[in-house]
Amino acid sequence: MGTSYGEWEPVIGLEVHAQLLTRTKLFCPCETSFGDEPNRHVCPVCLGLPGALPTPNTAAIELAVMAALALDCTIEETSVFARKNYFYPDLPKGYQISQYEQPFSRHGKLSVDADHGPHDVRILRIHMEEDAGKNVHAGSHSVVDLNRAGTPLIEIVSEPDLRSAAEAADYLKRLREILMTVGANDGNLEQGSFRCDANVSVRKIGDPKLGIRSELKNINSFRFVEEAIDVEIRRQIDVLETGGKLRQQTRGYASEKRETYLLRDKENDAGYRYFPDPDLPALSIDEMFVSRMRRRLPELPEARRARYVKDLGLTPYAAQVLTGHPRIAAYFDECLLFASGAAPELEPVKIANFIQAELFGAVTTSGLDATFPIKPAQLCELLDYVRAGTISGKQAKEVYAAMAGSERTAKSIIDERKLAVMSDSGELERLANDLVEKNPKQVAQYRAGKTQMLGFFVGQIMKATGGSANPSLVNDILKRLLGGAS
Ligand code: ADP
Ligand code: MG
Ligand code: ZN
Repeated sequence: MGTSYGEWEPVIGLEVHAQLLTRTKLFCPCETSFGDEPNRHVCPVCLGLPGALPTPNTAAIELAVMAALALDCTIEETSVFARKNYFYPDLPKGYQISQYEQPFSRHGKLSVDADHGPHDVRILRIHMEEDAGKNVHAGSHSVVDLNRAGTPLIEIVSEPDLRSAAEAADYLKRLREILMTVGANDGNLEQGSFRCDANVSVRKIGDPKLGIRSELKNINSFRFVEEAIDVEIRRQIDVLETGGKLRQQTRGYASEKRETYLLRDKENDAGYRYFPDPDLPALSIDEMFVSRMRRRLPELPEARRARYVKDLGLTPYAAQVLTGHPRIAAYFDECLLFASGAAPELEPVKIANFIQAELFGAVTTSGLDATFPIKPAQLCELLDYVRAGTISGKQAKEVYAAMAGSERTAKSIIDERKLAVMSDSGELERLANDLVEKNPKQVAQYRAGKTQMLGFFVGQIMKATGGSANPSLVNDILKRLLGGAS
């Protein structure tokens, strides 16, 4: 079980900002970009010049709706873009356009499975908003880059249904997988396209009332989210147990010191003077639009995992690993499709194992993309030679290494290197006889019923043949020579 805090129960609710993967910004035709020369992608609208009018980006609304549907949310027929007024150098208009009282989506859920077993976490709301620019601190002065200003975001707000730091991390992991799978977000925590604020409070176990929360800001890795939440839980318990009082605060996390620190006492919404943006009509999303987006939804990670376990016989762990990135899952699915035509006797489990054991380390991912050292067709051909007994598992690794990064077929490498399973029964028999003679102790143990000793003999023969001996032939020969036990 997870971490225990004595008589205290942690309560956590998460607010996640996810950048929608559109080509252009939410209300203007400027390109969204990361890492370009500062202030390259700006126009009168995102610079907030007088008279410039925003136009909503349909592609952003499509992605937002797909994300909401994937999280089992309702889609509101009418939602309203409001102005959230505040002054900051990276916000040229002096307000951020954000949905406030009337978000486009509500009442979803996401299932987590960590310390307290599988359960649903309710999602309170999802709304659309534009991102701000970036203040860049350069030595003695600060400059502003507005390339990011106006980039479309969705904010996904959970109910305070999480009860441990590990659950919060699991929620984030699953949310990220889902958003990536529907193509709404690239899941990049480091570049800030997936950001999380964690609201944390504690209460005595059994107390129905929520405690006073801190909001931990913008923590940019899964590990630090989990750590920061745990540290904050302990700080709050400590304050309360020493007779102190908590105030509602916004706090940061200093990972080197393993401490959260005060950023500011929490301002309330009244300070933002929200009002509906008079430049934007209410957003209406009709049923036709929603069903079009629903049809566009791909298989979601949880359904995929269930299919891998139930239909293919993978372990839940393997299913989890293979669905951790949508392109890796798609690669595995392509292998299955290829095998179903060209290598029907090849078992899915064998493909899954090889991907995890050999390919995984060589797969590179960048956002939603991934590159693989070999193609599904190459992998299936290779593994089918192992299944057919043409080459051994060990030889398969050698062929794979020679194949990686090239278009070569397994057959061309097997032929070139004259690889083949060694099925020369005379030679194998000679090796086996030799072993039996030299290892009387192990032979006696085997004959006395310690049948696991067979593994020792098989291993020795594999070693002697460089891993190429035909395993079933070796088994037969050894069992016959050793006699005695089964
Ligand atoms: P704000 O913008 O002021 O942070 P929101 O309503 O957008 O308010 O978000 C509140 C978040 O804080 C939600 O995720 C909610 O689940 C969580 N939350 C609210 N009260 C508590 C509490 N007492 N302890 C932990 N989390 C809380
Ligand atoms: Mg908040
Ligand atoms: Zn612009």
